[in-house]
Amino acid sequence: MKQDTIEIRWHGRGGQGAVTSAEMTALAAVHEDKFAQAFPSFGPERRGAPVLAFNRISPSHAIRNRAGVTKPDIVVVLDPGLVTLINVTDGLKPGGSLIVNSTKAIEELQQEFTGDWKLAVVDAASIARKLLGVNIVNTTMLGAMIKATGIVKLESFAAPLEHRFGARAKANFNACSAAFDATVLSEITTSGPKKQKSFKVDKVPGWRDLLVGCAVTDIGNTKRFCTGDWKSQHPEWDNTKCIKCGICSLFCPEACIHEQADWYFRADLFFCKGCGICAHECWTQAIKMVEEA
Ligand code: SF4
Ligand code: SF4
Repeated sequence: MKQDTIEIRWHGRGGQGAVTSAEMTALAAVHEDKFAQAFPSFGPERRGAPVLAFNRISPSHAIRNRAGVTKPDIVVVLDPGLVTLINVTDGLKPGGSLIVNSTKAIEELQQEFTGDWKLAVVDAASIARKLLGVNIVNTTMLGAMIKATGIVKLESFAAPLEHRFGARAKANFNACSAAFDATVLSEITTSGPKKQKSFKVDKVPGWRDLLVGCAVTDIGNTKRFCTGDWKSQHPEWDNTKCIKCGICSLFCPEACIHEQADWYFRADLFFCKGCGICAHECWTQAIKMVEEA
C-alpha cells in the first residue's frame, strides 16, 4: 500500500446505508480528482445485521488492492449499539480517527476507547430524525467524518448526493452539513495500555448442529445469535385492527412472533431483528414499525 493511501472502514447495520456512505465518499474524492474505491462486506446480508464497507483514497495513484481494510486510518461507526458487539477499533492505526454516532459525551467515550487515536462524536440519529425524518444516518455521518479528518471537502458531496438522492439531495446535504457543525473532536493520548474489547467465540457450530428451518422450531438459529441486538426498528401491534389470523407469525423469518394467552400475537424483542416483514404482511395494518429509542 502506497504511503499516501487513506483507508476507511465503516461499521453499520444492514439497512442503515454504510455502503452508501462509502460510495458517496469515493465519489466526492473522485470529484476532487483523487483516486478512490468503495466496496462492501455484507456477511449475513440481512436487515439489521452488522455490515462493513470500505474506502481507499489516494491523491496520486490508481489503487489496485481490492482486499478488505484491516488496518484502517479512519473508522466510522454508524450504529452506537455496535460498539458493544464488535471491536470497532480492531487494527485502527496509531494516530488514526474513530468517529462514532452516539448520544454520549466525548468524555464518556474517552473512557471506553483508550488508545492513540483521535476521537469524534456526534448525535447523528437526532440530526437525521430532525432533517430527514428517519433514523438513517449514512449521509449525516459523512459530515462528522470530514470534520474529523478533512479527507474531502464538504461541498464535494453536493454532486454525488444530487446524483444518488435527486429531490432528497438537499435534505441529505443539510444533514451532512449539520453533523459537520455538531461533531465534537478530541485527541486521545494515553500512555497506558490500549483498551480494546475482546470478543471470544466459544465454539463455532458445525452444520449438523444447526437447527433446520427456523419456522418449524422454537426460535430457529436466533438461539445462537441475539438478533434482537441488530434492530433499529421494532414492531408495535394495534389490537383494535388485529383479527388474530397469525399470518405475521408465519412470515417472521426469526419465528419470534408468538400467540399470547389472549390470542393476540407479539414478537419476542430479544430475537426480533426489526426486518419489518410482519408489518408488510399483516393485511389489516395492525403492525407498524417504530424506531428504536
Ligand atoms: S397478521 Fe395482522 S391481523 Fe393477523 S395476527 Fe398478525 S397482527 Fe393480527
Ligand atoms: S417480529 Fe417482525 S420485524 Fe421482528 S424479526 Fe419478525 S418479521 Fe421481522
